[in-house]
Amino acid sequence: MYEAYALGVLDPAERAALEAHLTGGCQDCAKTIDEARWLVSQLAYMAPEAAPSDMLKGRLMQTVRAEAHAAKRFTPSRSAIPFWMWAGVAALFLFSLYSTWNSQRLEREIQAANQRAAAILQERRELDAQLQLAKRAAIIVTDPASLKIALASQDPQTPALEAKWHSQLGIVLTGQSIPVPSGNRVLQLWLIPKAPGGKPIPSLTFRPDANGKFVLLVANPPELMAATKALAITEEPEGGSAQPSTTPRWVGGVS
Ligand SMILES: [Zn+2]
Repeated sequence: MYEAYALGVLDPAERAALEAHLTGGCQDCAKTIDEARWLVSQLAYMAPEAAPSDMLKGRLMQTVRAEAHAAKRFTPSRSAIPFWMWAGVAALFLFSLYSTWNSQRLEREIQAANQRAAAILQERRELDAQLQLAKRAAIIVTDPASLKIALASQDPQTPALEAKWHSQLGIVLTGQSIPVPSGNRVLQLWLIPKAPGGKPIPSLTFRPDANGKFVLLVANPPELMAATKALAITEEPEGGSAQPSTTPRWVGGVS
């Protein structure tokens, strides 16, 4: 309900009830709503990788360079030619030269326009992809059908993590005030299968921000919810591991 409120999708009656309750000065709900607002604000920034924006920059630079090149190369100088000096044959020659120049220029222009269109399309595709991820995460977090999983730490000082698992859309894992792993080390999610003797299945790695917060979307969990006994988080070297190399810091049963 809090996430739905923060997203602005709560129905008017529920919203009025919640706001009336907040006016009453409930600190617990105010804090939870602050956290939900933070979570919702993070959804918009959830990009898969930093790499695409470099690629986009590259494409834009290519377009700019191609245009600068074309402009330099085809500065018209026809006006400098004294036409009255030329006989008919020369005029014909000039005309064919002009046609070539013109078709080349046209070709360049088409090419530059195509490159610009490609860059714009690429940018739009990246924005769309980002928006799709954010929408997906928002649905996972707000859908009552999602299974809520608390991942407790053995260390009582370490806050628990929360996962929401939607059978079709994936898992959103969130945490606040989480100790940041040292150096380049990362946290890694594992799916512990129900099958007897089944090995932990590696999933995504992540690092909390400087304040110990993170939101992780696992759009395609490597195992079905029905076949998963528990979620576990270990600390691993940069890039993650194929099997856990440390004891889990957090574990939560899937049921
Ligand atoms: Zn309250």
